[in-house]
Amino acid sequence: MGPQLRRPTHRSCELCGRVERWDDDVATWRVATEDGEKQVGKPFCIHEWDINGRFAPFKEPA
Ligand SMILES: [Zn+2]
Repeated sequence: MGPQLRRPTHRSCELCGRVERWDDDVATWRVATEDGEKQVGKPFCIHEWDINGRFAPFKEPA
C-alpha cells in the first residue's frame, strides 16, 4: 500500500469566518450554509484556511 491521499471535506477561514465544504460531485469547494445563511466571510480576505480533522496528505499506514 502506498501513501493515501486524505482529502479534507470541510475548511474554515481563521481570518473572516468563511466556511466551505468539499463537493465531490463537482470536485470543488462550495460555501457552506449554516442556519440558512451562507458563510461567505469577507470578499477580499486572502483566507487562512483551518482544515479541521486530521488532514495528513501523505499519511503512511501505521
Ligand atoms: Zn477569509
